[in-house]
Amino acid sequence: HIESSPLVISDSFEGYPLNFFNLPLHYRDDLKSVLIPYGLVQDRIEALASRIFSDLHIHIPEQLICMCVLKGGYRFFSDLVSKIQNENRLRNDRSLPMSLEFIRVRSYINDHSTDQTEIIGLSDLNSLKDKHILIVEDIIDTGVTMVALKKELEKFKPKTINVVSLFTKRRHDKKCIFKPDYSGFEVPDHFIVGYALDYNEYFRDLEHICVMKESGISKYKV
Ligand code: 5GP
Repeated sequence: HIESSPLVISDSFEGYPLNFFNLPLHYRDDLKSVLIPYGLVQDRIEALASRIFSDLHIHIPEQLICMCVLKGGYRFFSDLVSKIQNENRLRNDRSLPMSLEFIRVRSYINDHSTDQTEIIGLSDLNSLKDKHILIVEDIIDTGVTMVALKKELEKFKPKTINVVSLFTKRRHDKKCIFKPDYSGFEVPDHFIVGYALDYNEYFRDLEHICVMKESGISKYKV
């Protein structure tokens, strides 16, 4: 059975040296190391897709609404959905019909994350009633965003909500308040970028999951 909990990247692992990878010239000086190469991300997503397919087809004869949390989740969403589609193509004994939704979440009060969220992009939230939802998120750090998003969606009475996050972060200060149903990797308490995860809108156009240098962090600070 494929594991739904995250593959743990330990604190002692400092990542792979940059000079073993093909990296865009415009970011080479801003990165410290490659924490998770693109290929490994793809392999783990394929495994998650297979697990989600075998778990959810049993419980969900109806359409599963795959909900992409933009912008950071777009690469993961796209790859996950196409890998579930592969399962659908190759299996004759079971299937998982999907529909796709795209939302943006704003959690705010004076620029910092709060438990109040605003969902942007869904034309009619009432259409979620009695539906099955799979929220597809890039990374869960404190868990505040996901707790708030789930609470907000529950107001519209969907039948089920499952959450898949590509990354969860192992925080040192306090424990994360949300555990996703499916997770790809648990990463150390660094700020990670690449594969659509950004730092102030930079680094989305980078394939590998990387850790930034201090100089990179200050260079792109707003
Ligand atoms: P939370 O509410 O769980 O603390 O934060 C979740 C959001 O913060 C994520 O959806 C993501 O946008 C952002 N975030 C948290 N940690 C990281 C990180 O290490 N890298 C990037 N790029 N974004 C992060």
